[in-house]
Amino acid sequence: MTHVPATGSEPLAPPLPRPTPTSAPYWEGLAAGRLRLQHCQTCAAWIHYPRVRCPACFGTDLAWEAVEASGVLYTFTVAVRPTAPMFAGSVPQVIGVVELPVGVRITTTIETDDPDGLRVGMAMKGVFDTSERVALLRFTPDR
Ligand SMILES: [Zn+2]
Repeated sequence: MTHVPATGSEPLAPPLPRPTPTSAPYWEGLAAGRLRLQHCQTCAAWIHYPRVRCPACFGTDLAWEAVEASGVLYTFTVAVRPTAPMFAGSVPQVIGVVELPVGVRITTTIETDDPDGLRVGMAMKGVFDTSERVALLRFTPDR
């Protein structure tokens, strides 16, 4: 990605993730509309974010496995002021943590037109945003 300094007249582009050799399978899965997580073959821990070693047992035998992109809203905040200049056009910005049934928690953007209707514990479903160079996983209430 090339960084182009803003001149003050054009909006800044939001930052995008930079896949690494370790995280590439995660991003490739999102681009294909699938959520894939690392699953430790030694101790069975599910792992997110992608790592070289299991944070539970330090094992390196990690397999990529598809899981359902759904869960419950663990926590969230509604930012009515931009969290950074590049999000000036995205307020209110709803940032949340979604807990998947396998126990993994994913920090994400919550897509909703009703931030006041969000409740901790409510069902959420994944939304695969492939409009950018890197696919992103967001969540929205599953009503
Ligand atoms: Zn492990």
